[in-house]
Amino acid sequence: MQRPSQIKNKHQKWTDLTFSGLESFLAGEGVNPIHAATLWKMFLREGMDKSHPDKHGRLPQTLNVWLAQNKPFVPEIVSTSLSDDGLTRKSLLRLEDGEMIETVLMGYTGRTTACVSTQVGCAMGCSFCASGQSGLTRNLRAGEIVAQVVHCAGVLQKTDLGRLRNVVLMGMGEPLHNYDSVMNALEIISDSRGLNIGSAHITVSTVGHVPGILRMAEENRPFNLAISLHGASDAVRESLVPAGKRWPLDELLDACRFYGKKSGRRIFFEWTLVSGKNDTLDQAEKLAEKISGIDAHVNLIQLNATASFHGAPPSENMARSFQRTLKESGIPATMRQGRGGDIAASCGQLRLRTDSSTDTVRKYPQQN
Ligand code: SF4
Repeated sequence: MQRPSQIKNKHQKWTDLTFSGLESFLAGEGVNPIHAATLWKMFLREGMDKSHPDKHGRLPQTLNVWLAQNKPFVPEIVSTSLSDDGLTRKSLLRLEDGEMIETVLMGYTGRTTACVSTQVGCAMGCSFCASGQSGLTRNLRAGEIVAQVVHCAGVLQKTDLGRLRNVVLMGMGEPLHNYDSVMNALEIISDSRGLNIGSAHITVSTVGHVPGILRMAEENRPFNLAISLHGASDAVRESLVPAGKRWPLDELLDACRFYGKKSGRRIFFEWTLVSGKNDTLDQAEKLAEKISGIDAHVNLIQLNATASFHGAPPSENMARSFQRTLKESGIPATMRQGRGGDIAASCGQLRLRTDSSTDTVRKYPQQN
């Protein structure tokens, strides 16, 4: 049977489709499109792990037969680790082809956040980032991104922390390097017929992929944008973020201005403080100057240790002076608390221990 155009290649699945895409696909498969709502309820709201067709005796016969031949893949939970404070939970998930990804659930009461991966590995090679050290293996499909959010929502259902409120694309990978799958996934995640996570609660975090930012602006994508900046001059930025050579600072900031203007959203700038590299007051002053006129908020993060990067976080005094300089220049700046560092779930630490060797996996205690 000729498959509708929404399924573009043999690797794609119906779980990669937006609601309207699924309706068209079902119609092409000879299944009543009305069942798109049933499928989404089962797989997005009730959790994919309950999706075995045999457990859904209530389903119409045609849908049951179709589902038996089109079972969605549910990522296998290889291991889960919990931070010492109990608030951060990292899951190592195995995909259908054996590749592994990490998903982190940060459980602050009332503002629980899922931090999901968008690629296996990453091509951007940021020097302090564990994901960047291993290169890109492959892009994730939309359904594989959505499945991580469903996984986090399912974990939350077993706690008293409430429902999942926020999603940040800050795990492994550069989201805008996998644009189509990421935008499909975000459309699915934010759709009120499924997970219903409002677009104001979804943040796309990018290393500064200028074509992707411009495309988001032109397509009127309503999501928050966070830019991993880390340097207020091209030289400093390029020493930490090689992508800075391709998309220089001024070009990147122009793209941010355009996105801010089109979306009406505040832009978040992420700044990992590395002692002796980008923690100087000169960099703070330059940063304030460069982003003045943008509705911006700077998130300062103390460097997390990774085995392959020989850098250190600055002293508390140095970090506070950097923050003060920004504030005195009228730039809102927050010192983000390091969460989950003891389980390598903080920014720049994903992929550090996701090697598929058994030895590495064993480092994680099984929690469930
Ligand atoms: S910081 Fe982000 S963009 Fe840079 S290497 Fe890591 S995952 Fe890729």
